[in-house]
Order: sequence, then structure tokens, then C-alpha cells
Amino acid sequence: MSQPKLTSLFRIQTLLMLHPKHSKSGYDLAKELEQLTGKKPSSGKIYPFLHELKDTGYIIEKETGDSGGRSKFEYFLTEKGVELKEELAERMANLLQIRLDQKLDKCHHCGVKLYDSIVEGKDKSGSPVVFCCKHCQAAYFDK
Ligand SMILES: [Zn+2]
Repeated sequence: MSQPKLTSLFRIQTLLMLHPKHSKSGYDLAKELEQLTGKKPSSGKIYPFLHELKDTGYIIEKETGDSGGRSKFEYFLTEKGVELKEELAERMANLLQIRLDQKLDKCHHCGVKLYDSIVEGKDKSGSPVVFCCKHCQAAYFDK
């Protein structure tokens, strides 16, 4: 096994939550995932993935004492894990950027993407459209 399969959002989110300096337990990760998604992943889902990451060299397991007779483990990213996380974060950011671009309105006159300032107006047939600024709105009607 060279690289863990990152085929689900659960796996991607879990990996993005891991850190090279601050170790986290499976329980910490489950709690964070619950806060993020509103759904607590089962330990039958978390631990097999953590073991997969460990076996492929992306995280290190550290024993941090025991709770009630059971060994407690925490996990942190290796250098290889950090690289994968950065690659993944980049990929996610690109995906979000694409989604964002698709959702953004464009100025009806100049075509610039509208991130915040929007002038609402109507086109020549009276349908609602948006402009980036008053000047574009005026220029559109001047034509
Ligand atoms: Zn414009």
C-alpha cells in the first residue's frame, strides 16, 4: 500500500484535522468531525482509517498512558503526512474555488465576477440583472 484511499469526505476531513505537532486521539477526531458535520463517526470507521494511515507511514501513533486499563493512543502527521495534507488542502481549495466561480454573479456590462459589491438593476427588457458598479450600470444603458 503506497497511499491511503481518500475517496470519502470523512477520510479527507480526518486527514485535514491531523497535525504534525499536536497529536490527537481517535476520540478527539470523532468529536471534531461531529462538530463539523453534525454526525459522529463510529470508532469502527475512524480506527481502521487511522491504522491505514499509520501502516502507510502518514501518521505516527503515540501511546499516551491508559484510561481505565485500556491503552490510549494519539496520532500525529509524519512529514509525508504533512505533504499529503497540503496537497489535499490545495485540491480542496481548488474545488471550492471552482464551485465559487460557478456560483458568482457577473456584471451584466463588463462581465467581472462579483465577490461583494453588487448594484442591482434591470436590463433593457426589464429583467433583474446585477452590475459591479454604477458606472457599468450607466454604461450599459448608454450603449
Ligand atoms: Zn462591470
